[in-house]
Amino acid sequence: MNSNSHSQEQTNHSRTGTDRRQFLATGMGMVAAPLLLGNAQAGSLLIGNESSELTNDAASGTQTITLNNGVQMPALGFGTFQLGGEECERSVMTAIETGYRLIDTASAYRNEDAIGNAVKSSGVPREQLFITSKLWVSDAGYEKTKLAFQQSLNRLGLEYLDLYLIHQPFNDVYGAWRAMEELHKEGLIRAIGVSNFHPDRVMDLMVHNEVKPAVNQIETHVFHQRSESLEFLKEQNIQMEAWSPFAQGRNNFFQNELLQAIGDKHGKTIAQVALRWHMQRGVIAIPKSSRRSHIVENFNIFDFELTQAEMDQIATLETATSVFFDHRDPNVVRMISGMGRNNP
Ligand code: NAP
Repeated sequence: MNSNSHSQEQTNHSRTGTDRRQFLATGMGMVAAPLLLGNAQAGSLLIGNESSELTNDAASGTQTITLNNGVQMPALGFGTFQLGGEECERSVMTAIETGYRLIDTASAYRNEDAIGNAVKSSGVPREQLFITSKLWVSDAGYEKTKLAFQQSLNRLGLEYLDLYLIHQPFNDVYGAWRAMEELHKEGLIRAIGVSNFHPDRVMDLMVHNEVKPAVNQIETHVFHQRSESLEFLKEQNIQMEAWSPFAQGRNNFFQNELLQAIGDKHGKTIAQVALRWHMQRGVIAIPKSSRRSHIVENFNIFDFELTQAEMDQIATLETATSVFFDHRDPNVVRMISGMGRNNP
């Protein structure tokens, strides 16, 4: 977008292998985010356990969480499922302008090129952004993963990813993981993780491999709180990340009376209460929106705190059921495995 951003891109692109590995191994340069965070507190707010400590980056006000390999990941990000083309580019640009630094995509979303364009146009230095992508089921396996990863990088126009996830716990995830471990060691991925894995699958992957997943991204919202997974992942020092943090609006989420009443007390919306609930449980959330007003609203959650009584009330919304599908249902395994790369 401006000459600064281009020269910064070039600087990033011309990092030497050693420089890059050092950068990848340490925290990211989370600086200079334009902020709407209001009175973000100094220091840190302990939520859950040590692995989920929200750290307030003094330079930016951006809240980050330290992953089990020392990499810092923003506590709140921007989801991009069902966004494509110009709408995706515009929405991601708006998100970055608003202050989001974590952008979540997947090869399955077919929008990596649009996200790459938005990232380039944003003018925000690459090392201040945290870009996640995911490996689709049909690309699982050692050789295929290496190729799919490179294709994702090419579409995004990036030199490295901050986080690369196995999208679904199906097909040859062990071959995929070995390839991802190597890519991680080569400095091409700062952190590797999984998505939609139940605790038994996470443990199986962990005990048979060298690198422990840094993140597990799973469906999590007030109707499906995943407390068992959260407890397990905290014990293992693996960061939980919520997809569909608003249940995609299902179960009349945006009309929920309890969340509305809590929001009224704080002068906040249902969406903000829900995101704050995720934060205070130590869960990273990646809400999606194509509207500027929602994108801004969803980012403005660091200037209030839910009380323990309010957290307990929200716990009562649990239905213990997915609003989408159960990854352990054989029909779902067949259905997802047969899907092309255009799916969640
Ligand atoms: P979501 O974020 O729970 O909900 C998105 C919906 O909420 C959209 O319809 C959006 O409409 C609406 N919305 C957003 N902010 C709002 C606000 N402040 N007030 C009212 N409505 C609002 O659903 P999601 O997109 O399924 O999940 C989020 C991200 O998680 C995805 O985009 C994707 O990155 C990731 N994901 C991952 C997986 C996986 O298998 N790993 C699966 C699903 C999703 P507008 O656009 O009109 O604002």
